[in-house]
Amino acid sequence: MQKNDLIIVTIEDMTTEGEGIGKVEGFPFFIKDSIIGDNIQAKIVKMKKTYGYARVEKILTPSINRVQPACDVARQCGGCQLQAMAYSQQLEFKRNKVKNNLKRIGGFQEIEVLPVIGMEHPWRYRNKTQVPFGMDKTGNIVAGFYAGRTHNIIDHEDCLLAPEINRKIIEIIKNYMKQYKIRPYDEKSQQGIVRHVLIRQGYTTGEIMVCLVINRKSLPKAEQLVEQLKQIPGMTSISYNINCENTNVILGETVVTLYGPSYITDFIGTIQYQISPQSFFQVNPIQTEKLYETALKYAGLTGNEIVWDLYCGIGTITLFLAQKAKMVYGVEIVEPAIQDARKNAEINQIQNAEFYVGRAEDILPEKYKKEQIKADVIVVDPPRKGCEQTLLETILQMQPKRIVYVSCDSATLARDLKYLCKEQYQIEKIQPVDMFPEGVHVETVALLTRKAQ
Ligand code: SAH
Repeated sequence: MQKNDLIIVTIEDMTTEGEGIGKVEGFPFFIKDSIIGDNIQAKIVKMKKTYGYARVEKILTPSINRVQPACDVARQCGGCQLQAMAYSQQLEFKRNKVKNNLKRIGGFQEIEVLPVIGMEHPWRYRNKTQVPFGMDKTGNIVAGFYAGRTHNIIDHEDCLLAPEINRKIIEIIKNYMKQYKIRPYDEKSQQGIVRHVLIRQGYTTGEIMVCLVINRKSLPKAEQLVEQLKQIPGMTSISYNINCENTNVILGETVVTLYGPSYITDFIGTIQYQISPQSFFQVNPIQTEKLYETALKYAGLTGNEIVWDLYCGIGTITLFLAQKAKMVYGVEIVEPAIQDARKNAEINQIQNAEFYVGRAEDILPEKYKKEQIKADVIVVDPPRKGCEQTLLETILQMQPKRIVYVSCDSATLARDLKYLCKEQYQIEKIQPVDMFPEGVHVETVALLTRKAQ
């Protein structure tokens, strides 16, 4: 077998990134856009020693779980790796992914993974969208997404994961650019002005934020753009962000507000949050509430507990926990996030939450050694790389009754649980939550309790 050969193969498994895996005479191929149960004709695009990559040419017999992707450009975009799979099956795929990682990496053979908490309507759930602008070969302004692994922009204004109002906002920006001859930014020449638009919409408040990312210190004809945008019901905050660097990072450091406040507000449960263009805020508000409810339930608070919330971001989980705890301490490495967290505590009149800026693996051991601080419950919500071992070591020394681990990567979750469950702790519950329907990622909440000594 070699490159460009056609093969016929049945997909038996899928990678954690959502590529189908099928074998030809025992030799495995990774095939994007195919799902378990599909029988397909595929073209080999790359051969390695022990595996290869192929591309779907024709679906000969579709899997019983195959559905017609709702979005016309699902395949080109690559943002929704699982759109061709029925939603119930997506949830099963994610449950298995967590189960397999716990088994393979954590060594937990017989652990029950609860059914994934999914969405009733798994569309239009994103409260944040970042759309790049560019120009096509004929000189038309385009806005949409980068075609898989390139920076070629495909014109597409209505992402089915985002609110419908985005289409109108993008249209207004395009018209304004055409009318005033304001060119989109070109990465190659680093010329042009408009790079991206960041749109956020509060789920419960309906408040809309538009922030145009530009390659200039100021936005030409800004009043004319504002005049158009503010006609949209719910428009709350209009700003531009200055990014003159030659970089893939979307936002620069400076935001200039043109209309309204510099933030929008939204609620998760009864807690109100202020969200700025740069703030980290979970993108799926409906599922976030379910995620935090699960974390809160697992924390088992009665009102007397000292709780630590490590990797707290803008204090979202911290403030949720504060409603039921005696005292909650949040730790986060990004200073502006902690400023937001303190402000969010203030606007919700929450007095039993305190925040520290720094690395969780520095702050917690320091406080523990110097001040002998205590913890009844410790919550962690680390980025994909998981927790440093030194932090896990301190957690073990502090002996909280419960540990609630919120994870966005079940591989590092499994590694860290293995360490925590060596002697003192046991897994009580594993609850995945689907924050990203149509995509491959899954969030998991794990509850560990201290074994009777
Ligand atoms: N719990 C929050 C944020 C979770 S995202 C929420 O649900 O919204 C993970 C957070 O960990 C990010 O805000 C990131 O800035 C922070 N972080 C990354 N490394 C860290 C470290 N070593 N110590 C503390 N915080 C860290």
